[in-house]
Amino acid sequence: MTPPTGITQALAAPEKLGVHLRRDIALAPYTTMKVGGPADYFATVTSVDQMIGLVRWAQAAALPYFVLGGGSNMLVSDAGIRGLVIHNRCRQVRLEQPPRSAAEAHLFAESGAAMAGVARQSIRDGLTGLEWAVSIPGTLGGAVVGNAGAHGGEIKDRLEAALILNEGGQIVEFHLADLAYAYRDSSLKRRKPLRAGFLPVVLSATFRLAHGDPQEVRARAESYLAHRRRTQPAEPSMGSTFVNPPGDYAGRLIELAGLKGARIDGVEVSSLHANFLVNPGGVGKATAGDVIRLMEQIQTTVQTRLGVALEPEVQLVGEW
Ligand SMILES: Cc1cc2nc3c(=O)[nH]c(=O)nc-3n(C[C@H](O)[C@H](O)[C@H](O)COP(=O)(O)OP(=O)(O)OC[C@H]3O[C@@H](n4cnc5c(N)ncnc54)[C@H](O)[C@@H]3O)c2cc1C
Repeated sequence: MTPPTGITQALAAPEKLGVHLRRDIALAPYTTMKVGGPADYFATVTSVDQMIGLVRWAQAAALPYFVLGGGSNMLVSDAGIRGLVIHNRCRQVRLEQPPRSAAEAHLFAESGAAMAGVARQSIRDGLTGLEWAVSIPGTLGGAVVGNAGAHGGEIKDRLEAALILNEGGQIVEFHLADLAYAYRDSSLKRRKPLRAGFLPVVLSATFRLAHGDPQEVRARAESYLAHRRRTQPAEPSMGSTFVNPPGDYAGRLIELAGLKGARIDGVEVSSLHANFLVNPGGVGKATAGDVIRLMEQIQTTVQTRLGVALEPEVQLVGEW
């Protein structure tokens, strides 16, 4: 891509934040599906100050940016992402000490912290409310944007507040009402193919948790993990590919349509869970094009045989 006016001279600015800007970095290794083309510019941030500085710099330079968490809820196109991909590794997690008598405790975490790690920390502290998240891949930022959930729990149940860096570069506190949460959706998530742009960035969040019986909390988390291991494939995937249609399960319909084990080049419908498309060969063995073709085959077959239109749950990111 041709850098916007002023970018070439300004490219040194991130170095002052301690951020190293790299060119043409393949994104496949940074996603759980292990497919996807390059980012024009790529930078890893490890502190919230770096994140704020880099986003403000990109906004001032009119360089579109895209925040990459765990890459676990997206399919990056083979053409990749034009602009700057910011790899979020701001990972601090801490318990905000409540008064001894308080019934609730607050857990603070930066947006690049692994959501499962945040859950594990809460469990170590004997707190209840986030056990469901021990089995979720990806970062807290991705979970806050997508209202991640499992085992009957979801982000919106326990979120107290999130700090957001908005399109204008200001830091604002969002509460539940501002996030307009719905099933795997929020005001921060856009349901369309995504490109780099000038979207708000989640910097951190605080959860409101209750004190629980440490043994019970641990046992619940263990049972969720064991359930995952039994029911979901371990190979590279994007998690659930399609949204469950009202009153049904996408996986059940895909299996009923006879598509379990269907394959296009390196990508196949998991034989363990039909709503998971897996890339058993990992990086270099499949393309985003293979994934899209298999998704289209599934949508057409399920529509023709069962009369149900399946909608993608994963976000299609980059240039298609
Ligand atoms: C095996 C497997 C199992 C899964 N199981 C579940 C499940 O049970 N329940 C569930 O809800 N999900 C599940 N998922 C999907 C995924 O783990 C969640 O959606 C997760 O919350 C995504 O987080 P991430 O950091 O990987 O986001 P990414 O995929 O990196 O990003 C997703 C979107 O969020 C945006 N984003 C990420 N971080 C920020 C930020 N800090 N600020 C602004 N925007 C940001 C990105 O730009 C992108 O648009 C599963 C995925 C896999 C691979």
